[in-house]
Amino acid sequence: MTGQSLDDRRTIPPGGVIGIMGGGQLGRMTALAAAELGYRCHVFCPEKDGPTEQVAAAATIAAYDDGAALDAFASAVDVVTFEFENVPHESVQRLAGRVPVRPGWNVLRVSQDRLVEKRFIEQAGVPVTRFAEVTGLESLAAALAEIGPPAVLKTTRMGYDGKGQVMVKPSTDPAEAWAQMGGAVGILEGFVDFDCEVSVVVARGPDGATSHFEPVRNVHRDHILHTTTAPAGLAPETGAAAVDAALRIATALDVVGLLAVEMFVVRDGRVLVNEIAPRPHNSGHWTIDACACSQFEQFVRAVCGLPLGDSARHSDAVMTNLIGDEVSDWPALLAEPGACLHLYGKAEARPGRKMGHVTRLALKSGPRDG
Ligand code: AMP
Repeated sequence: MTGQSLDDRRTIPPGGVIGIMGGGQLGRMTALAAAELGYRCHVFCPEKDGPTEQVAAAATIAAYDDGAALDAFASAVDVVTFEFENVPHESVQRLAGRVPVRPGWNVLRVSQDRLVEKRFIEQAGVPVTRFAEVTGLESLAAALAEIGPPAVLKTTRMGYDGKGQVMVKPSTDPAEAWAQMGGAVGILEGFVDFDCEVSVVVARGPDGATSHFEPVRNVHRDHILHTTTAPAGLAPETGAAAVDAALRIATALDVVGLLAVEMFVVRDGRVLVNEIAPRPHNSGHWTIDACACSQFEQFVRAVCGLPLGDSARHSDAVMTNLIGDEVSDWPALLAEPGACLHLYGKAEARPGRKMGHVTRLALKSGPRDG
C-alpha cells in the first residue's frame, strides 16, 4: 500500500507552492533550490524564525498535530513534502486527504521506526546489520545471547545523530544499558566493524523514474556526520552494490522525492544498510557545489514531477560539517580558495548543533581561457 492514488502523480509546474513540513537547514536549502526553479515554499513547523522560515515565502508556525493549521496549510500549497520525517502519522494522512503528499505516508511510517525499517529493507532483499527487537530486560538478554556483544542498543523511534543509543560491550551490565533507554522500545544491532561508511541519495519521480548521486564516503564523529568525500574511492563492485541497494529500497517503498541510504562497507566488500531517510540528507550537501543538479534541486524536481536533473559530479569534493562553535571559523573559510561556505542562520551555536557546512572543491576542469 503506497497511500497514493494515480491522480496524486500529476506535475506541479514552476509557479506553484511547495509545502515543507519541518523548519531546519534541509528545508532552507530546499526552499533556495525551489526558488531557482520559480517555486515558492510554505514551511510548516513549530519553531519561529528557524532556518527554513528565514528564506520561505510563507510560514505556518504550529504544532505538527494542530488540525486547523494543517487544513489551512493544505489549502495554501500545491504539494506537501518533508525535511523532517518524524511528523505524526495522523497529520500526514490528514494532509494526504487534501493535497498530494510526496513521499506518501507509508514511506514515513516505515522510516519513523528502526525496527519496521530494518524488516522492510530485509524483505526488499537488501542486507542489513543483524538486529533483534528489545522490549525489556528479558528480551535484551535473549537478543544479546543471539547477537552477542559488542552491540548497539538503539531506540526504535525519534533517534538521529546517535541520540538514544547505548553501546553494549562484553563488560556492560545489560540492566544498566536497558535503564539508559528510559523504557523506550529498542532494537539491538550487532556492532559492525566496518571498513568505511557510505551513502547514496536516490531521487524518484511520480512516474517511477530514478536518478542517483554516486556513493560517497562518510566519517562520523560522536555519531554526527563530520565529513563526506566524493568520489568515495570504492571498488567498482562495492559502489555498484551500494547503488543497487539504494535503488531497490526506493522502488520497494514507492518513494516520490529523495531517499538517502546510509550503509556500512564491511571488510569483505559487502554493504549493509544502517538506516534510510526519505528526504535530502547531510551526506548530499556536497552536491550543491560539485554537481550540475544538487540533491535539493533534484528533490524539488522529483516532488513536483519535473524531469530529473543531471546528477553527475563536475568536481571532487569534501564536505565538512560546522558543528557548534566550529562555525566561528567562518572568516577563515570565506578567505579560503575553493571553499564554499553555507551557514544556516541559527542564532545559537550549541554543542552538537549543525550550524553550517563547508564544501572544498578540487576542480576537474581544464585551465580557464581568460
Ligand atoms: P545512526 O544514528 O544509527 O545513524 O548511527 C550514527 C553512527 O553511529 C553511524 O553512522 C555509525 O558511525 C555508528 N553506528 C551506528 N550503528 C552502528 C553499528 N551497528 N555498528 C557500528 N557503528 C554503528
